[in-house]
Amino acid sequence: MAFFVNKVVIVTGASSGIGAATAVRFAQEGANVALVGRNQERLSKVAEDCAKFGRNPLVIKADVSKDDEARSIVAKTVEVFGKLDILVNNAGIFKHDNIQNPDFMEIFDSIMATNMRAVAFLTNLAAPYLIESKGNIVNVSSISGRYIGNPYKISYKTSKAALNHFTRCIALELAPHGVRVNSVSPGPVDTEIFNTPGLLINLASLKDATALGRVGESEEIADLIIFIASDKAKSITGSDYVSDNGLILK
Ligand code: NDP
Repeated sequence: MAFFVNKVVIVTGASSGIGAATAVRFAQEGANVALVGRNQERLSKVAEDCAKFGRNPLVIKADVSKDDEARSIVAKTVEVFGKLDILVNNAGIFKHDNIQNPDFMEIFDSIMATNMRAVAFLTNLAAPYLIESKGNIVNVSSISGRYIGNPYKISYKTSKAALNHFTRCIALELAPHGVRVNSVSPGPVDTEIFNTPGLLINLASLKDATALGRVGESEEIADLIIFIASDKAKSITGSDYVSDNGLILK
């Protein structure tokens, strides 16, 4: 059964990891998907995986943190597919920092620009189309938005906490228009994000830190996003779904 036939979905950060898996799942469910990222080669590979399910996705090479490129994401999607039903704000970056870093503000600005400001602007641009389609938004947050754990990665944790509150604010504003807004908060998931230089953490140690003794896979988070974006979740808005193998229990 295909749940998203004729639905139009934007997935940011679709060139890798959670976003790539989510884009493929939406394609499998019959959606027309706009794949957004900066790496053309990786986007093309994900587009091939989506096309196997019979629908050609739209590839949009864009940096979500640049306003002109953000505008082009929504404009091109609506131009090609005629509407917008679902916005998945997934693009994100993860860096090591603490407040005593000499370059703290540089890291803070770059993380906030991608993980929070870009989400705000894309939501602002997409809102009229989502109101028209009575669609929904899924923001990809993190357990870092609700759990501190160690005194590092201040900017990343702050960006995700802000994203959680933003999600709830927009959920309340758009509810009277029939638009739902939710977030998912993964714990550690095995993706390229852990290859970011200078992180000082690795997946093996994170696996040991979880209650279930494992890290997640992108496909698990994609399935959660698919559920929240579907009509099966029609009563759900302003919620944040944790999928962390029990990390925050410890
Ligand atoms: P990946 O590094 O595998 O994917 C990140 C994606 O974001 C890539 O497709 C990348 O594309 C895209 N991206 C980053 N910056 C930009 C930008 N400025 N403009 C457009 N696209 C951008 O990581 P994940 O799949 O793990 O991360 C996806 C989301 O999940 C992030 O928001 C992350 O914070 C969140 N998350 C991940 C967890 C994990 O353990 N993996 C845990 C909790 C949350 P490109 O390089 O082509 O631009």
